[in-house]
Amino acid sequence: HLSQRLALVANKVAQDAILADIGSDHAYLPAYLVLNNKIKSAIAGEVVKGPFNSAKHLVEELELNDKISVRFGDGLDVLKADDAVTCITICGMGGALIRDILDRGIKNNKFSGKEQLILQPNIGEKGLRTYLNKNGYTIISEAILEENKKFYEIIVAEKRPSNQELNEEELLFGPFLLRESHPVFIKKWQQELKQRHYVLNQLEQSSQNQTDKIDQYKRDILLIEEVLT
Ligand code: SAM
Repeated sequence: HLSQRLALVANKVAQDAILADIGSDHAYLPAYLVLNNKIKSAIAGEVVKGPFNSAKHLVEELELNDKISVRFGDGLDVLKADDAVTCITICGMGGALIRDILDRGIKNNKFSGKEQLILQPNIGEKGLRTYLNKNGYTIISEAILEENKKFYEIIVAEKRPSNQELNEEELLFGPFLLRESHPVFIKKWQQELKQRHYVLNQLEQSSQNQTDKIDQYKRDILLIEEVLT
């Protein structure tokens, strides 16, 4: 049942974790991890009734009720202090939504500071890395894959005593992905480069004043060209 994308996320989860999977949809990820004896237990959070019911059904069908608690609520609101969660996965959403969920979690004291975050934004990776960097999280590993003609990045982050400072390049490409330069990474950024050239061209032809946007696109294009050569 598990997509390659979620399999790669599953691979990043530490053995014997207590997991919170936020936006769990069908609860495929926690079910897979429990069935493979990788985690002790899990909470599957959902804020939409349809997916929430799908998660409940799957957990009942697999008789995993004692291991997976399916909860209805917004983001990390579903967590209680005594859940003692060690790992939080938030996957398959935009980076801005993931950031909002984390931000609300910080405001509502949902973090012990010891949990590992495994995030898989569909878009907006740079914004998410910037947010993590500003809020005292260190990115400790990353992964990239292509599935059904889409590129996915996975970001693993933790609180560490010393602060990680990421530069513009690392924020855009990911500190680990940048160094690894995986063939999928190269392919993604070749496509991104083409897209950015196209958009830049459109912006330059536009009659509105788009100077800031144009500058940002030019900066990104330079960074991408550097990385690809
Ligand atoms: N995590 C699964 C995956 O990666 O395959 C499901 C991804 S699905 C595209 C996104 C899910 O997040 C949807 O089921 C949606 O209802 C849920 N979601 C969106 N915002 C949420 C929030 N604030 N709190 C909890 N769940 C949310």
